[in-house]
Amino acid sequence: SVVKANPTMTDWTAEDAAELYGIRRWGNGYFDVTPDGALAVRLPEQGARPVPLPEILAGLRERGLSLPLLLRVENLLDNQIARLHRAFRDAMTEQKFPGRYRGVYPIKVNQQRQVIEEIVRFGTPWGHGLEAGSKAELAIAVASLPLDGRLLICNGYKDRQFIELGLQARALGHDCIFVLETPAELDLILECSERLGIEPALGIRAKLATRVGGHWNLTSGERSIFGLSITQMIQTVDRLRDLGHLSWLRLLHCHLGSQIPELHQVAAAAHEASRFYAELVREGAPLGLIDFGGGLAVDYLGQRSTDSQSCDYSLRDYASCLVETLKAELDGLPAPDIVTESGRPLVAYYSMLLFNLFDVTRFEPAPGQIQARPDDQPKLRELTELVNRLSDCENPEEDYRRILQLRDELHRDFVAGRIDLRRRARVQNLILAAGHTLLERFGSADNLPEPLHELRDELADIAYGNLSVFQSLPDHWAIGQLFPVAPIARLNEKPGRETIIADITCDSDGRISRFAGPADKRTTLPVHGVEPGEDYVMGVFLVGAYQETLGDLHNLFGDTDIASVRIDKDGCFEVIREDKGDSVEGILAQVQYPPGALRDRLRATAEDAVRSDRISLERRRAILSCFDACLRSGTYHGD
Ligand code: PLP
Repeated sequence: SVVKANPTMTDWTAEDAAELYGIRRWGNGYFDVTPDGALAVRLPEQGARPVPLPEILAGLRERGLSLPLLLRVENLLDNQIARLHRAFRDAMTEQKFPGRYRGVYPIKVNQQRQVIEEIVRFGTPWGHGLEAGSKAELAIAVASLPLDGRLLICNGYKDRQFIELGLQARALGHDCIFVLETPAELDLILECSERLGIEPALGIRAKLATRVGGHWNLTSGERSIFGLSITQMIQTVDRLRDLGHLSWLRLLHCHLGSQIPELHQVAAAAHEASRFYAELVREGAPLGLIDFGGGLAVDYLGQRSTDSQSCDYSLRDYASCLVETLKAELDGLPAPDIVTESGRPLVAYYSMLLFNLFDVTRFEPAPGQIQARPDDQPKLRELTELVNRLSDCENPEEDYRRILQLRDELHRDFVAGRIDLRRRARVQNLILAAGHTLLERFGSADNLPEPLHELRDELADIAYGNLSVFQSLPDHWAIGQLFPVAPIARLNEKPGRETIIADITCDSDGRISRFAGPADKRTTLPVHGVEPGEDYVMGVFLVGAYQETLGDLHNLFGDTDIASVRIDKDGCFEVIREDKGDSVEGILAQVQYPPGALRDRLRATAEDAVRSDRISLERRRAILSCFDACLRSGTYHGD
């Protein structure tokens, strides 16, 4: 594929779109473009044909699902589990490491039943286990895991109920391990174990001094709120030894934070953890398992950089680094099995949010609004002259500075009552015309010289996307997480409109106005000129981790429709599961409006209005049936 330096409208191909939207950079091999301009899902390991997303969407719409839609492609989860295990298997073989790799999936990363069931099913050939961080998550794990020797690791603060359920799970045959978060947990475990007559298996969570980069680095360092200090660790070992229970200690745990961007930080943490492991074994603890927690990053930006939303290493680099670092520290000790609690990289890829743009606001001058008028006052006349000569003046930056000065003065004149509304409108049009002239003069927003950079944002279209950032992309809103965004069709046409996407909440934070670029972040995304009424669908990708349950009901936009598909080796897809999103009625019930309560109130108001002759009975019927139809509808923008 040949990527052109500056493709024009006529020689643009889908290859250029792949480059522009970074599809192959962030897609991990799972996303590509077809020559006729569709974004497609690929399964490189299976060698199936790339399946165009518009094709999948059409099939789902025929089944009654609508946008916005969370689409899960099961195979990507399946593949990610396999890739993770193969990476460790290969690293261990290459480095002649005699231990095994035993992954566990941290339920908190996406707790939806379907996700857990798929992980348990796809994880079967690899013995992939689960990690629980709360009672509810433990209940999921205990009931979902088969008794086939997989690990069930319990992190988080544990009360009596949590501990009793974990012990009963051991009695049933689960390899359930309590990782001690505080010294007090040990007292409770000892008490419950004695009362129930069930021996626990224990892990110690070490607070590593190593600090990592990225957003979640407060999990690392000695003031981390999780885990035992070194003194507490030694006291725990001494106590277990005194009680004759040192054999219960099976695992050393550490977790430095999610999304660790740099491999050298992974290596430093693994080194420190391996030292703890070796020392504890020398203290007499049997151990046998070292758990490096989560942190394996997803390259959301597709940059392979040290940015906190990217990473400078591959899955294979990560696996090799852990194996090599641990091996170097063992110095004759028996090799433990390696556990990781990788969550984000397992589930991020397989979910994408598809949504339509249903309207657009453009910032362009109205025709005929930039000519001088005989009765213009001097400032408006000067502004008009400057704008009209901007395409061939000698120093456009300087002229533009003066234009902005005049704009500010004329704004003040309007507020002071010195110019009327129509002239104020002309000022607005002149400023827009000036901006577009400059864009044309410099070729594109990417070529604007520094003093004119803000024009990119000021002239960008605002496209209205049928989604709620708060519900579907909470990390974008809360911590500025960037997810890849791209149209799913027309990729063989040059997208000529720099755009930001506003969501449908009434909140100025409800927007996507930061995007990943090839080297840097950008504040606008080129999309196609969306025509009113056009079915223009975009995707936000890599949203499978953390977003679903962190999302909230801002403005009462609820769950979107959800569909799961599986692609077979011939490139056909089968719909495995479909769920309708929340209805208005359903969402109202979640905020304590029982079904019928609002309707009863409205009915009483309408009845009063009939009694006092303000509306007819026919109008009353129409009002109530309109209300009922609204309650039954979905919460998002319909047709
Ligand atoms: N394990 C623990 C203890 C965690 O707190 C987390 C998340 O922060 C994870 C695993 C999952 O991490 P990741 O999603 O980076 O794989």
